[in-house]
Amino acid sequence: MRVILLGSGGREHAIAAALAADPAVTDLIVAPGNPGTAAIATNAEVDALDPDVVAALAVELAADLVVVGPEAPLVAGVADAVRAKGIACFGPSQAAAQLEGSKAFAKDVMRAAGVPTARSFVCTSAAELAEALDAFGAPYVVKDDGLAAGKGVVVTDSRDEALAHGAACERVVVEEYLAGPEVSLFVVTDGTAAVPLQPAQDFKRIGDGDAGPNTGGMGAYSPLPWAPEGLVDQVMATVVQPTLAEMRHRGTPFSGVLYVGLALTADGPKVIEYNCRFGDPETQVVLARLETPLAGILHAAAVGRLAEDPPLAWRPGSAVCVVMASAGYPESARKGDVITGADGVPGVIHAGTARRADGALVTAGGRVLTCTATGDTLAEARAAAYRLVDGVTFDGEQHRTDIALAALQDTVVIPAK
Ligand code: AMP
Repeated sequence: MRVILLGSGGREHAIAAALAADPAVTDLIVAPGNPGTAAIATNAEVDALDPDVVAALAVELAADLVVVGPEAPLVAGVADAVRAKGIACFGPSQAAAQLEGSKAFAKDVMRAAGVPTARSFVCTSAAELAEALDAFGAPYVVKDDGLAAGKGVVVTDSRDEALAHGAACERVVVEEYLAGPEVSLFVVTDGTAAVPLQPAQDFKRIGDGDAGPNTGGMGAYSPLPWAPEGLVDQVMATVVQPTLAEMRHRGTPFSGVLYVGLALTADGPKVIEYNCRFGDPETQVVLARLETPLAGILHAAAVGRLAEDPPLAWRPGSAVCVVMASAGYPESARKGDVITGADGVPGVIHAGTARRADGALVTAGGRVLTCTATGDTLAEARAAAYRLVDGVTFDGEQHRTDIALAALQDTVVIPAK
């Protein structure tokens, strides 16, 4: 199978590693890729956001499968353009990608499908915004309606900050605050059949103890030792199947990965958000334990034959990853700091890195690397991930020291009714 993978982040390096390990994959091209993917695949310098460019590349290379990593190409219609050439593509159509592309659209689908989620208002004026904030009270949750790489959401006790964030956006969704631990569940689907991967938890805030602003994600672990028995089945029945049915009913079936972001509240699991692609950095820990070859799963989903596949197989134990971010992240991202100790180290997954002309590896983005490790126990996986972190250095480096700590200490609490 000749596979083209679109994207250049840590998620794509992790997906590329899983695809490269699949014996069915004979050629793997990552567009545009990063220095990590360059070591295990062929990077192609193309604009992955341009549907015509990607479709032309897929035809030129006679690809058997195109896998779209990030959301932006999906929202731009890349999957439609590839499929129009008769080439299998893993990822939703432009219309179905609106589940992530517009928070207001996602809310409308959830409402129609009867999916448990936070109550919300869509606001387009300062007066509506103020009214919605006061209807729910603090903590305030204000979400920019469009794509914002995980950074368009403000959760704050400050009414002024909530007002200011809302005023800076054209259209915002104001939501009721959902109290409870968060879970990320990736579901691979061909639009009808749906296969859940193992749940993970990520850490959105920049600082230890969930201090500071939201980021794209600072670490993750999987599986979740504290998750209630039957959680995945419950979410498949109350969230995923009704959502997929509603999307089919609208004439825009959703295929690819439905990423369900949940809060486990006193009233049960509720959806915080949908994404239309794998999450970063949860993908790093989920794929680290997936035994079933990945290309076969993604191809089956892309061509509508997922129901024929056997159940997924998982390695026992746990996986933990810790993101190393550049100076200034998430407000900014300093570039050009020399990275040592990362090249060729198993488990060090590249995201915002670049290769300088002299061969040095340097920082090139906010989230620079994801140190990912597995272990027989969560404690072992966590210790191994932090050992990887200790081996890598660059100026201004930031990481959290408490990834998976609460799970290890058994202090993750689902609120009681
Ligand atoms: P989103 O982009 O919608 O996932 O939001 C980013 C992060 O903000 C989530 O992962 C949560 O940590 C937080 N968040 C979003 N919506 C809510 C909510 N209704 N209640 C509590 N936290 C939320």
